[in-house]
Amino acid sequence: MILIDIEKKIGDACRQVGRELSSVTLIAVSKLQPPEKIVELLEQGHRVFAENRVQEAEEKWSSLREQFPDVELHLIGHLQTNKVKEAVRLFDVIETVDSKKLAEALADEMKKQGRNIPCFIQVNTGEEEQKTGVAPKDIEKLYRFCIDKAGLNIMGLMCLPPADDIPELHFALLHKYATALGIPCLSMGMSADYEAAIRLGSTHVRIGSALFGERGGR
Ligand SMILES: *Cc1c(COP(=O)(O)O)cnc(C)c1O
Repeated sequence: MILIDIEKKIGDACRQVGRELSSVTLIAVSKLQPPEKIVELLEQGHRVFAENRVQEAEEKWSSLREQFPDVELHLIGHLQTNKVKEAVRLFDVIETVDSKKLAEALADEMKKQGRNIPCFIQVNTGEEEQKTGVAPKDIEKLYRFCIDKAGLNIMGLMCLPPADDIPELHFALLHKYATALGIPCLSMGMSADYEAAIRLGSTHVRIGSALFGERGGR
């Protein structure tokens, strides 16, 4: 599918629930996509992208960013504390804060580099053992820690619903948690379910395969 088709669907979903189109950011998930496909989108004027691995992002984006300095790059994969330095150097938004340890490491590194990068807290809404993200019962504690102790700029909550579950349940849950804490943004919705996510309040949809086609193998 091409960019304008997806933008149109985003617009339709917004209209259905009386939201402004400008309240939703389309994040093009470029993980495992070849540079030429990324350049194609950049040349069409798209600027917001996401990667899930620090190293892959470094390899692909170091030179692309020189050509397109106004790109906004989001990290949407799990971040290990030993990669925080590279992540803070490379990304403009980090969507996967899920522990105090990581929050502290990010805050320290941001101070060192003189950058204040907005972050999302990733929530494991399905409470899946194999998945990263903070458990719903611990969101408030982690949020307070991030804000009050670490001094991070937490702009939203992010989730990745279980593959075999109805995503709307998780979108509604994430919306409820964010509303309860007064957190403004919600990163939820992917290729298969972004319209539903928008109807349930998503402000950031992360779309990969619907935009670029199937991902290449690694
Ligand atoms: C890969 C990925 C996406 C995009 O998935 P698609 O189904 O290809 O749109 C979104 N969010 C996260 C966290 C991902 O890892």
